[in-house]
Amino acid sequence: NLSDKLDKAFHILKGHGKITEVNVADTLKEVRRALLDADVNFKIAKDFTTKVKEKAIGQDVLTTLQPGQLLVKLVKDELTELMGGDVAGINLSGTPSIILMSGLQGSGKTTFSGKLANYLKTKKNKKPLLVACDIYRPAAINQLHVVGDQIGVEVYSEPENKNPVEIAQNAIKHAKANGFNVVIVDTAGRLAVDQEMMDEIARVHKAIQPQETLFVVDAMTGQDAVNTAKAFNDILNFDGVILTKLDGDTRGGAAISIKSVVNKPIKFVGTGEKMEAIDVFYPERMAERILGMGDVVSLVERAQEQFDEEEARKLQKKIAKNEFGFDDFLTQIQQVKKMGNMKDLVGMIPGASKAMKDVEIEDDAFKHIEAIIHSMTPTERSKPAIIDVKRKARIAKGSGTKVEQVNQLMKQFDQMSKMMKMMQGPGGKNLMKMMGG
Ligand code: GDP
Ligand code: MG
Repeated sequence: NLSDKLDKAFHILKGHGKITEVNVADTLKEVRRALLDADVNFKIAKDFTTKVKEKAIGQDVLTTLQPGQLLVKLVKDELTELMGGDVAGINLSGTPSIILMSGLQGSGKTTFSGKLANYLKTKKNKKPLLVACDIYRPAAINQLHVVGDQIGVEVYSEPENKNPVEIAQNAIKHAKANGFNVVIVDTAGRLAVDQEMMDEIARVHKAIQPQETLFVVDAMTGQDAVNTAKAFNDILNFDGVILTKLDGDTRGGAAISIKSVVNKPIKFVGTGEKMEAIDVFYPERMAERILGMGDVVSLVERAQEQFDEEEARKLQKKIAKNEFGFDDFLTQIQQVKKMGNMKDLVGMIPGASKAMKDVEIEDDAFKHIEAIIHSMTPTERSKPAIIDVKRKARIAKGSGTKVEQVNQLMKQFDQMSKMMKMMQGPGGKNLMKMMGG
């Protein structure tokens, strides 16, 4: 997927000690390819990389200490900008505020109508009314009633009436008479854009003059999503986009293209079938999701703040002399702990949040490790090689852990020592490199 591709692209940069203009061009070419693979429109992808390149050169990426990081940040900022920059709210100014849903059949209009009603009711203290204007399938009216029951929101429907304009108008009267302050009108969609559907939604739109017309689109439909968005926008000049089915492995490309083509903000995303699976759309988070990078930049900043140059130099010497032991390991852990809680930190490491999404991370994830090290004798700490089966059993018992946990730590320690040996460089940059810098 796109994230993996970009990981690869950034890897090209990370692999080089020094970045040349050629590297930057190569990397951006990869970035562009990744965007294209995710169904981002060709012109958008091209403009995007051109812009990043211009900015990169303007900022002298090539001469900074951490050109890779800087380029990553530029790509992220530019992507964020491309998706709208700031968070866009929805307009609830009317009495009642009328919200009209549009989109193809199966895009998730009915589900999202329920989610939005639930969101406004529970988070914004509103009294919403749901309106069933999908008159073609009896099951559609039913579906909205099921949703309404589930979230405790009233649903207005007229099963015998075949005129959606009338139903919508009657519903608004009903809302005014009964103290509803938001009216969410769910409409019928077709499997593809067709004239009849467009005429109908246009008539409803004209008749009820909604404060907010939302276009609902299935994020999995890629480039098609862009064409559909354009067709609906030409007719309705809608106010915002709802990107549904952004759960699972969905590519983020649609978010980028839609914003660029219709120039309307994405307001919410749907991330599952449940009523709670609704999120406000944050362009920056989406950019991070697409890049799969976590918040690399702020992680690096925090590492820089916390990392003690003096300690770093001492460590350097020990590694060089092969004297790195468990006491130093403990110091390292304490350094990392100073940076913040484990859950936050893992979320910031590129790839780690994905890899560890099913792992429950305790705030004090280092508790066991510290206990194990504390149960070692000073000699064991400085010469881990002497720790045999018998010693392991004693350490496990002393620290209240299992022998497997001791083994695991020994293995981690081993890997870390090897890695540190490999990463020797000038100054205090070792930790930074370990962080993916
Ligand atoms: P409509 O025809 O536009 O009203 O679409 P529906 O609301 O009936 O949704 C079509 C299908 O997509 C249903 O099976 C929904 O459960 C499912 N669906 C809607 N939104 C999401 C979402 O955000 N994630 C997932 N995984 N499924 C969704
Ligand atoms: Mg529906």
